[in-house]
Amino acid sequence: CALLHGAGGTGVCRNRCDGERPQPAPRGFAAYRAAGGYAMAGRLMADPAAAAEVLGRIDAHQAVGRAGVGFPVAEKWRQVMAAEGTPVVIVNGDEGELAIFKDRFILENEPHGVIEAALVAARTVGADRVFLYVRDDYAPIHAILRRALEEVAAAGLAEGLALELRRSGGAFICGEETALIASLEGRPARPAERPPFPTARGYLGRPTLLHNVETFYRITAAWGGAPGAPAAALLHPETRLHSVSGRVRAPGPKPVRRLARLADLVEIAGGMAEGHALGGMVIGGSSGTLVTADDCRRPLAELLAAGLRLGTGGAIVLGAADDPRAVAARMAAYLARESCGQCGPCRVGTAKAAQALAGAGALDRPLLDDLATVMGEASLCALGRNAGRFLGRLSTLADPTP
Ligand code: SF4
Repeated sequence: CALLHGAGGTGVCRNRCDGERPQPAPRGFAAYRAAGGYAMAGRLMADPAAAAEVLGRIDAHQAVGRAGVGFPVAEKWRQVMAAEGTPVVIVNGDEGELAIFKDRFILENEPHGVIEAALVAARTVGADRVFLYVRDDYAPIHAILRRALEEVAAAGLAEGLALELRRSGGAFICGEETALIASLEGRPARPAERPPFPTARGYLGRPTLLHNVETFYRITAAWGGAPGAPAAALLHPETRLHSVSGRVRAPGPKPVRRLARLADLVEIAGGMAEGHALGGMVIGGSSGTLVTADDCRRPLAELLAAGLRLGTGGAIVLGAADDPRAVAARMAAYLARESCGQCGPCRVGTAKAAQALAGAGALDRPLLDDLATVMGEASLCALGRNAGRFLGRLSTLADPTP
């Protein structure tokens, strides 16, 4: 993991830290359909009035967005339906957060689950266009999706809809919804002020329904899903997909129902790598929190009650010999590199934080606290605000011993 090793001196992980993996073996169109897949998409084509039933099922399922805010899915769909203009649907597959690879896992296993959810969404809200926007370095997934889209078109399931696969620009900020829309329109990927929200005015000024891959896939559970593939474990609402990386024997995506302690993730990932003892974890991706080894062994419920956020489910396992400050410095360098530079608090704050953490002496805690406050309160988008949160949680970092 580059966050641990500092590859290339940049500290940039870019999600390649889960080891060697076999070639993806996605469930194909025939097998997905045989398991009950595309039944709802087909029903909506035959009977557009079934859209009301879809919304009712999503309501009953209490589906919420999985990108962090937890906004109710059906409410978002209704906002899009209430806005003026023909809607557009976007599947956000640009997971650029450090050491998060859950969307990749879903797309590699169940491309048709994601596509079916997007088709159902499009037919429910009355869209005429669906984009699958996938990060540029997920090349095998582009091939998987291209084939899956051909199969869907050949089966007549895309009738009346334009389905397009787009590669992202390769920057973390491309996953932010307004930056993503700008990038799709051919403009630089920079976040925009809200309102207007994309649900009212998004892609080319049209109402836009955008969810990430995980949100789309999970909502298939509202109409029964298609059981039988490894990713189908996620259709249970209590299952969380943890991206476990770092000093463990078997890093990778781990679907877990009711995690008791963070340390249990180490066992689930095959135990600590040879020669390493648990030294702590970075939890929650780029807005991460450094959790000590002792806290990893406490009940997770206690940590959550004390304010820990699991975020997008990332867990970078540190060894006892890893220097948490060096890890924090690489995280800050990553955030500084990925800041789009549009607003001062984030552009200047991430650079100053990276500089402060990279130094060898005692930490300038007042400076870090100050940056945390300013960035948390005044940054335009979640990258800057989350970077502020990350800085505000560095109180467990010890100063070097003289
Ligand atoms: Fe760009 Fe950072 Fe401002 Fe977001 S917070 S718009 S990434 S400079």
